[in-house]
Amino acid sequence: MKAVVLEEAGSPDRLRYQEIPTPEVTPGHVLVRVGACAVAQRDLVERRGGHPFLQTPIVQGHEFAGEIVEVGPGVTRWSIGDRVVCLYTDSCGDCDACARGDERRCSRISESYGLTVNGGYAQFALVHERGLAPLADGLSFEVGACMLSAIGVGFNNVKYKAAVQPDETVLVTGASGGVGLAALQTVKLLDAHPWALTTSQEKAGRLEEMGAEVVIVDPGDSFHRQVRQRRPDGVDAVIDCVGSSTLGSSIKSTRRYGRVVAIGTIDPAPLSLKVGSLVVHAIDLLGSDNVTLDALGEAMVLVRDGKIDVVIDRTLPLSEAAEAHRLLEARAAFGRIVLVP
Ligand SMILES: [Zn+2]
Repeated sequence: MKAVVLEEAGSPDRLRYQEIPTPEVTPGHVLVRVGACAVAQRDLVERRGGHPFLQTPIVQGHEFAGEIVEVGPGVTRWSIGDRVVCLYTDSCGDCDACARGDERRCSRISESYGLTVNGGYAQFALVHERGLAPLADGLSFEVGACMLSAIGVGFNNVKYKAAVQPDETVLVTGASGGVGLAALQTVKLLDAHPWALTTSQEKAGRLEEMGAEVVIVDPGDSFHRQVRQRRPDGVDAVIDCVGSSTLGSSIKSTRRYGRVVAIGTIDPAPLSLKVGSLVVHAIDLLGSDNVTLDALGEAMVLVRDGKIDVVIDRTLPLSEAAEAHRLLEARAAFGRIVLVP
C-alpha cells in the first residue's frame, strides 16, 4: 500500500511517500481503508519530535475516517463495510473509566495511532476495535476525518468543560484553526457571544463570516490589552487553542470568577505564570477534556444537521503530506487540511 512514513523526527522533508506492506489483521483488530485523514497542528509537534512517546519510523495521522474491509479474530463491535472514525487511541475495556462506559478517559491505553503505532497517512490502517467510533450516516470521510480532534474537541470543551451559558462573552484563541472554528461556532450555538483572536488581518473577515462578533488581530502575547479596551471587566471565558504563547494573555483577558480552558499545545514551551493573577481574580484554569464518546456523537448530529460547519481549507493527495505540514506551519490554512489516499 502507499503510505507516508516519518523515518525520524525532524522537518517536513522527513515525511516520505512510499510503498510499505499492507498490515495483516491481528486478533481484536480491524483493517480500515482510509477514506480521508486530517492533518492537525499536533501532527507538526509530534513530527518535530515534541512528543516523548513518538516511535519512529511511523505512519503519522490520528484523525481519520474510513471503511472496515477486514475483521480480525475476536472482534465483536464491527463488520466489514462499517464506516468509522478513529478515536486516536484504543482503550483497555476494564479500568474504572472503561467500566462506566467512559472509554475516552481510559487509564491503560496501549495504542496511540500515528504516535506509537501506525496511523492514517496511508491507504489502510490497522486499528484495535476499541479505537473506533461509528461515522454518522450522511457524513463524508473528509468531514469524518475532522470530527474527533477538530469538531469534537472544540464542541466538548465549550459546551461541557467551559459550560458556556447564554449571553456570556467567550474569546477563542487560534480561532482560524480546526478546533478554534468549531469552538467559535459552538459558542454561537449556545446563544453566547463569540470573540476571536487571530494573528492575521486577512483571516479576520472570514472569522466574522463564521460568526465572530469581535475579531482581535494580534500576533503577540498581550492581546488582553485589546480585550480590556473593549470590555474592561474582561470576557467570561477563554477557549485557548494555542498554548503557552497565548495562555498568559488569555488569563489576563478573563473577568473575575471567569474560566480559561487550555486546549492547544501548538506551542509546547513551558509557561511562566503569575499565580497571583489566578488567585486574586479567582479564575478557573481548566485542562482540555478532549472529547467524550457522547459529545462526539452529539457533535456529529450537529454537523449532519448543518448546525456546525466543518471548515476544510483544502484536500490534498496523500503524496503531499509534507506540503500539508508546511502550509500549517506557515499558518496558511483556514480550518483543517485533509489528505485523501
Ligand atoms: Zn480502560
